[in-house]
Amino acid sequence: MENIYNQLTLRKHNYIEAKFTPIKMINFGKCLRCGNRDLTINNGVKSCLNCQELGLIDQFTYFYTLPFQNYPKDYQKSDNNLLLTKMQIKASSFIVNQLKTNKNCLIWAVCGAGKTEITFQAIECILQKKLFIGFAIPRIDVLYDVYDRLKQYFKLVEISLLHGQKKINKNAQIYVLTTNQLLNFKDAFDLLIIDEVDAFPYEYNQKFEYATKTSTRKNGSIVYLTSTPSKVMLEKQLPTFVISKRWHNYLLPVPKLEFLNYKLLKNYILSPYILYLLLKLDKQLIIFISNISLGYQISKVLNFYNFKNTFVHSKAKHKRKYINAFKDQKINILISTTILERGVTFKNIDVWILDSSSSLYNIASLVQIAGRVNRNINFQNGQVIFFYTTINKTITEAIKQIKYLNNL
Ligand SMILES: [Zn+2]
Repeated sequence: MENIYNQLTLRKHNYIEAKFTPIKMINFGKCLRCGNRDLTINNGVKSCLNCQELGLIDQFTYFYTLPFQNYPKDYQKSDNNLLLTKMQIKASSFIVNQLKTNKNCLIWAVCGAGKTEITFQAIECILQKKLFIGFAIPRIDVLYDVYDRLKQYFKLVEISLLHGQKKINKNAQIYVLTTNQLLNFKDAFDLLIIDEVDAFPYEYNQKFEYATKTSTRKNGSIVYLTSTPSKVMLEKQLPTFVISKRWHNYLLPVPKLEFLNYKLLKNYILSPYILYLLLKLDKQLIIFISNISLGYQISKVLNFYNFKNTFVHSKAKHKRKYINAFKDQKINILISTTILERGVTFKNIDVWILDSSSSLYNIASLVQIAGRVNRNINFQNGQVIFFYTTINKTITEAIKQIKYLNNL
């Protein structure tokens, strides 16, 4: 056995730690990570191209499995109080009740409702039973945020933070991981919490759905958290709890619609309406744009008119630094691609989506972006503007969803 483990740790993917029981990812003629049966054979070695964006695997790559059926240590509660709103308490008990019957459930909570904390009571139940928890999140920046909040509340519990560049902590009882990493686990979690899975395209979701089943133990439960459930998610007809109010009980801002002529921007002209808005701007502003080169163009135009601004996108250097500077209110106008779409909280901002007609947005992302505004109880005057060339179905559906939640 020792030998196999040594070989495994030498392999390029290094998916396994010495204590873990090896389970092959490709076996029985299919890829057990994504469910694909159409394997590629090269020099007699089978591999799966269907999920290669998560790292190419072959018949010698192994799943993560947890070393024990039960966690060896007793749960130690730390002396932390959890302050929840009435709605959060109700949602929290709802999940705990679902766990009793091992049922999966859905929490549909508006952006800013405090979704993470709603799961803490359920997590505590699982910890007390000496079982395991997975908390899967699509985005790395949100991953760190959730990790910090869990760490703060469950001070004495071992928590592993796991993403592509991070090694697993095999002694952990809670695993906070990217949804991609989830695909590397098998029969590991008794409670799996999945945050914002609807943010992803359907094709990805299929793979992911397979992974949620694979990574969860037989009697395990799955809790889906979402602010913007897809049709597919709603059609599953899971027991659902809806929180239509944000934690501070204020409504979500309904986006305004404004036509924008992009030709003007290309000619360094700002429309009178945009100029007017910029001149009377009394708070910070995030301008969302889906396209990097258009982002640079807008940045140049704003500079031309002497509106100081910073542009951040996924490939920008020092983007963390600029986002933090914006948080600290050292930058007034931040232009951003969808990297700031979710998970981040700013105190007092307006939000514009400059190209809301772009096909790169879906309903979920438009609702999420609108949800960046008015998150702080003391600042409720932020406004959201969707600039458009045509009002498409995505835009109307997003606004419909926001109004629906506000009217519940
Ligand atoms: Zn695969």
